[in-house]
Amino acid sequence: MISTPSYAELASKNKKYLWHPFTQMKDYCENDPLIIERGEGVTLIDVNNKKYYDGFSSVWLNVHGHCVPELNQAITKQLELIAHSTLLGMANVPAIQLAEKLVEITPEGLTKVFYSDCGATGVEIALKMAFQYWQNKGISGKNRFITMNHAYHGDTIGAVSVGAIPLYHQVYKPLLFSPYTIPYPNTYREEKDGAALEQTLQALEKLLQEKSSEVAAIIVEPIVQGASGMIVMPEGCLKKIAELASAHQVLFIADEVATGFGRTGKMFACEHEEVTPDIMVIAKGITGGYLPLATTLTTDEIYRGFYANYEEQKTFFHGHSYTGNPLGCAVALANLELFKSKGLVDKVAADAQWLKQKWPAFLERKHVGDIRQKGLMIGIELVVDKQKRTPYHWNDRMGVKVSQRCRELGLLTRPLGNVLVFMPPLSSTRDELTEMIQILYQAIVEVTEGREA
Ligand SMILES: *Cc1c(COP(=O)(O)O)cnc(C)c1O
Repeated sequence: MISTPSYAELASKNKKYLWHPFTQMKDYCENDPLIIERGEGVTLIDVNNKKYYDGFSSVWLNVHGHCVPELNQAITKQLELIAHSTLLGMANVPAIQLAEKLVEITPEGLTKVFYSDCGATGVEIALKMAFQYWQNKGISGKNRFITMNHAYHGDTIGAVSVGAIPLYHQVYKPLLFSPYTIPYPNTYREEKDGAALEQTLQALEKLLQEKSSEVAAIIVEPIVQGASGMIVMPEGCLKKIAELASAHQVLFIADEVATGFGRTGKMFACEHEEVTPDIMVIAKGITGGYLPLATTLTTDEIYRGFYANYEEQKTFFHGHSYTGNPLGCAVALANLELFKSKGLVDKVAADAQWLKQKWPAFLERKHVGDIRQKGLMIGIELVVDKQKRTPYHWNDRMGVKVSQRCRELGLLTRPLGNVLVFMPPLSSTRDELTEMIQILYQAIVEVTEGREA
């Protein structure tokens, strides 16, 4: 056994030295921190030996659980050879092998793989690639992007520019380039059936008719808008957006960072509507939740826009120190092997169907307003008044409180405002899913109704 310092010592040093992401440190420092020591299957174990279900896949990453022998071995095997060498003007073995596999499994027409190390960098690359593509083609004026309301694409400045969640993005406004924003169809909050979808498509069509000569690309979270609260698109929406973009010479960027790698019951969410984007960003699940790696995939057409004589300076001048990291690529390859050998995508689709029968009991509760699900990507929206669909006030911290109760009961998750996130590792068994759901249910009843479940 490796010996770990005491909880008290770690907790004190945690407060002293760390600044946590997306965390109000004042709140954090006033509470006892959760400090994880190890993982076992779909659970995390803290330094006090308390075990928790990883009910949000360590923020939407984990696929096969933790400490998976095949994935561990893939890394150690690669480590014996080399940990890292650059992809700037040279290659490494797993980066080539993974690129081939990714082209095989992503939508037909995506043929080139550009590596980076997280979702946000993958999005930056997509934006810069789309922008420069038009420049390289000699078509000027396409200087803007279209995004969807409440979109989230990561936390670097370009990704924040196409972000549209005021709480996260508003403060940086003076620093950002400004995209056009169209409404995202939220059927839970629409006036009448079908209105939301129609409004989105009409807004996009009008915008494209008037402004397409100014627009390089539209960026979309396909099928499920994640960070805004797990909002599932009405059927046909994605395909229609892609068709409109293509008809108006605007590139279509699919940000599959959250939805990719089986999460929605297909390998990629674009497959639900047989859409091939011009550029696709994948990250989170790519390494099974092991190491930071992302890729931006694109078509021959866009690749050829940069393929020119040296003197023309059409090169894509973009890269990161750890682009195409061999350890990340090796574990991503092993991840894909496991997807295949376990038939994981079909398993997710079947589990998702099975899980649906659990929701009616939740929806009977007084403060459960809506449950949205695509595959194993689930959002449970809590409301003050179900009839009027009135949200809880931000200061009520209802999502936070229910998630805290979940933690006490042995399930980790992180809410999006009033929306509870349930995104278990894709490998979770039905028994594990059942136990996780029971904890969620108990926590919701206890906290929102103030009584025992
Ligand atoms: C998480 C996420 C990102 C950002 O990915 P990071 O790896 O955290 O930078 C981008 N887009 C979507 C849709 C995401 O869910």
